[in-house]
Amino acid sequence: MIHVARDQSVFSLSAEAAPVVRIRPGDSLVLDTADCFSDQIQSAEDTPGAVDWGHINPATGPVFVEGAEPGDVLSVLIERIDVAHRGVMAVSGDFGVLRDRFEGMSFAMIPIEGGFARVAGVSVPVRPMIGVIGVAPAGSAVPCGSPGSHGGNMDTRLIGEGATLYLPVFVTGALLAAGDLHAAMGDGEICGTGVEVAGSILLRVDIRRDVKLTNPVVETSEVVATIASAETLDEAADSATREMADLLTQRLGLSAADATMLMSAAGQLQVSQVVDPLKTARYAMSKEILARFGRELI
Ligand code: CA
Ligand code: ZN
Repeated sequence: MIHVARDQSVFSLSAEAAPVVRIRPGDSLVLDTADCFSDQIQSAEDTPGAVDWGHINPATGPVFVEGAEPGDVLSVLIERIDVAHRGVMAVSGDFGVLRDRFEGMSFAMIPIEGGFARVAGVSVPVRPMIGVIGVAPAGSAVPCGSPGSHGGNMDTRLIGEGATLYLPVFVTGALLAAGDLHAAMGDGEICGTGVEVAGSILLRVDIRRDVKLTNPVVETSEVVATIASAETLDEAADSATREMADLLTQRLGLSAADATMLMSAAGQLQVSQVVDPLKTARYAMSKEILARFGRELI
């Protein structure tokens, strides 16, 4: 098994980054990941002054995938996510929807045990997910704290165990990297952190050449969802909606009118996160309904 250590990481996704490992399509690999603060917060008494803010949101990689070329789609099956026994959350006057209610920044250590995280005195089910996962973008480097068409900091709850993430490839070898695990996160990620945690991810990577994507798509056991990021949530929602309509017409042969009506009757326009430099929305269609077409959406 190919195993990449957590210190083999980058803070931006870039065509220029030197790969830490080369894999072939069909290979499985394990990425060990630090938390989004590069594991710098070890106690609730730690202060933001003790954090090197130039070294946050590390992503383990990049991984060069042999044969991946611009225009291909990287298919990343998330076979397993293991998280550490302690996570961290933060509230701050500088980030999050409710930042006007706080001054400075304070951290809380979050015990994780027996499938539950202890938040605000109650047990919250652990649902591990990947905050940052992406390939090198087409243009200049994008910091790992930002999302985009290449993936990155999508903070999308559906990118969890058992899901397959489809990413458009922009550079030879794709240059896949991932980090920023959350033991749990709600839609919106409103305080700016999920239950941030170190851990490891078991992935299987393949290349698809029978589908074209301009933005990421995630498939879970229940839905297929297009994911889009933009300056405003309105724009992100608009893009995710358009991407799903395009998939329904191109892949299932629906007319524009039928795709639009089906989405309006049975689709789910959802918020992924509203706290990163770009906001992220998704458009989810239930696989139960998609199965009625007898053709794969993706
Ligand atoms: Ca994140
Ligand atoms: Zn995070």
